[in-house]
Amino acid sequence: MRYSQFLIPTLREDPAEAEVMSHRLMLRAGMIRKLAAGIYSTLPLGERVIKKTAQIVREEMNRAGALEVTLPFVQPAELWHESGRWNVYGKELLRLKDRNERDFCLGPTHEEVITDLVKGVISSYKQLPVNLYQIHIKFRDEIRPRFGVMRAREFIMKDAYSFDVDEKGAEESYRKMYDAYCRIFERLGLKFRAVEADSGPIGGSFSHEFMVLADTGEDVIVACTDCDYAANMEKAEIQAPQAAPVKKDDFNELQRVETPQMKTIEEVTGFLNVDASSLIKTLVFASAHDPVVALVRGDHEINEIKLKNLLACDHLELADEELIERITHAPRGFAGPVGLKDVEIIADLGLQGRINFVTGGNEKDIHLINVNINRDFTVSRFADIRCAQEGDSCPRCGEKLTTTRGIEVGHIFKLGTKYSEAMQATYLDAGGSSKPMVMGCYGIGIGRTAAAAIEQSHDEHGIIFPEPIAPFSVIIVLVNPTDEKQKQIAEHLYNDLLAQDIEVLLDDRDERPGSKFNDADLVGIPLRVTVGKFAVKENMVDLKWRKTGEVKQVAVDSVTEAIAENLRKTNFT
Ligand code: ATP
Ligand code: MG
Repeated sequence: MRYSQFLIPTLREDPAEAEVMSHRLMLRAGMIRKLAAGIYSTLPLGERVIKKTAQIVREEMNRAGALEVTLPFVQPAELWHESGRWNVYGKELLRLKDRNERDFCLGPTHEEVITDLVKGVISSYKQLPVNLYQIHIKFRDEIRPRFGVMRAREFIMKDAYSFDVDEKGAEESYRKMYDAYCRIFERLGLKFRAVEADSGPIGGSFSHEFMVLADTGEDVIVACTDCDYAANMEKAEIQAPQAAPVKKDDFNELQRVETPQMKTIEEVTGFLNVDASSLIKTLVFASAHDPVVALVRGDHEINEIKLKNLLACDHLELADEELIERITHAPRGFAGPVGLKDVEIIADLGLQGRINFVTGGNEKDIHLINVNINRDFTVSRFADIRCAQEGDSCPRCGEKLTTTRGIEVGHIFKLGTKYSEAMQATYLDAGGSSKPMVMGCYGIGIGRTAAAAIEQSHDEHGIIFPEPIAPFSVIIVLVNPTDEKQKQIAEHLYNDLLAQDIEVLLDDRDERPGSKFNDADLVGIPLRVTVGKFAVKENMVDLKWRKTGEVKQVAVDSVTEAIAENLRKTNFT
């Protein structure tokens, strides 16, 4: 490809709206442009990166025996009623009506469509197992679209769905996908980790997320320093503390203290001169059913996902001011468990074996000290409802846990029979009886993966593409296109590389050499060949590696072979 005939609208300045590096660099390198919040066009350079990412995913899905299909983006509401998700999916589901006032939605995921399809075409155990996938558009009306294509509203996903005759088969399909995902992210040249994950609204019994390690990641990964336990913070279990039984003799007298204007943990602990671990945070939640109250220690954070799973409810959110007042009879900041009536109180395990707590007094500007469980209030149940923290004990081996950040690029779920039962996707077994198919589903965000690669690999000059998804393997910078000799050498080299099927961009633009070099660095092409005066005088060119900055002088005649050799080394498939 000739640069002069390609379209790479690079930007010199950092775009103000971009919060993370990958977003900034994708805009600056002319890969994407925004149309509306979370909705992007992909330009030619970006398209090459996306296509390459998708192709690696496709090859590995095919290798694992999955079959490619294309499923409709616009989906009829009836299917979502059948699965029971029309009313619970929430606002991420963009709903619309056709000209006949029939309800449809834009597909945020395709369990309904695929289950309906498979139910119509598969009836016998002889046709199973099957795994169908597509690489196609999804729409999710994200509450906070941000970071460019990383959290977009319209985005490309690879989604696969497996159907098996039984649990054992489904586990085998799951394992195949797990292995395929490891190969995919290895081939993409990413530093990643598979972690245990929450199954969220898709449902199902267990799941893993594939996380690209990056400080700017939205997810927190909890990992053991000793064994191989790793989980998303949303899911990470806490080893139940070995709490000694409390001695009632050690209970101090309950007291009411004035704490004017003191609402935060810091204000209250500072004022009363106590440690945050002896304070109880009382959190009121509105749920799909009745409100609930959750208690965690002042030095712990509530884990809303765990609480939601515990309550088995689809909807849970922190109460607004009005609900807090209704439950506690006090403004926000002064809630406490003592005296609460007609509401379920769930306490975190971290409160067990401890005494003489500080809590809100359910009265404006009042806290209580020396509050004790079972003397001053009772809880309906104790459960693990807090977030794991650095230094907590590993739930598997007891060693210390650490936390890092990651970007979730892939997610695999074992679904079981949730959709096949709801939608009657059954098959006849060898004995002629009808059974629900056992399903799994497996997603990879294509744009998010490409963005994560950039997040993980860049410097102050721009993107450093891993070779497998680089838009071109080589860029030839023709320093002076008006110099016939330079031009001849560059053209010759360009044709040689093309003849070897090496993807090359020839920068033949009539621009200052400095800006050509800057653009080459910005768009992150792994190898740069400079054809300038030196090439004409000495018959030598500079070969520069974008990643290391290493420069080698190579004879014009042997440069194609040197490049081909280098690419053979980096492509290990
Ligand atoms: P998140 O927690 O980040 O919202 P999710 O759990 O909703 O992700 P899945 O439903 O598992 O995501 O979707 C599979 C994959 O699709 C994700 O692993 C991610 O790579 C990608 N993906 C999900 N939402 C988005 C989005 N808004 N923009 C881009 N990619 C996305
Ligand atoms: Mg999501």
